[in-house]
Amino acid sequence: MKFLTQNAIETEKFGRVVGQLVQPGSLILLNGDLGAGKTTFTKGLAQSLGIERAIKSPTFTLIREYRQGRLPLFHMDLYRLEHSSADDLGLEEYFDSAGVCVVEWSQFGEDVLPADRLVIDIQRDLPGFAADTRQFTLRAAGSKSQQLLEKITTAWSDQ
Ligand code: ADP
Ligand code: MG
Repeated sequence: MKFLTQNAIETEKFGRVVGQLVQPGSLILLNGDLGAGKTTFTKGLAQSLGIERAIKSPTFTLIREYRQGRLPLFHMDLYRLEHSSADDLGLEEYFDSAGVCVVEWSQFGEDVLPADRLVIDIQRDLPGFAADTRQFTLRAAGSKSQQLLEKITTAWSDQ
């Protein structure tokens, strides 16, 4: 599934749609350069889980936990694992939990990441498009994520 958003408000709205559809154990890998809109998307997702705390990038903390919503949200940034291993950090505990995991820089955590995941690529600087246009590309690996992707596709095209 591929589509464009024209501004941050639209990206946040897309995050809210996804946040309404995630389930216990949903895993979302979020790829995109700095400024692509990863945090903006996650803010929307958190909003519709009913999380009122401000979402901040977990760059220096590896993981931020938000437990006051419909489901717990675990927002991870694995960038710091570039030169080390994700083994022994206990991240499995989060993936096996009833929470929702949103993971940035997931390529540095492949050792421990479950196979069933929804991958969202966000691209900016699209030739011929306005500076604020972002392209979202979604693909699912595994049956749980496939179901989630189908629901998202339906909900987003009904907007
Ligand atoms: P990241 O977490 O990927 O580094 P952020 O979500 O923190 O990115 O920042 C995205 C920036 O780009 C914000 O300043 C936002 O206002 C701006 N922006 C402009 N257009 C869009 C869009 N279509 N979607 C998301 N953010 C956008
Ligand atoms: Mg960010």
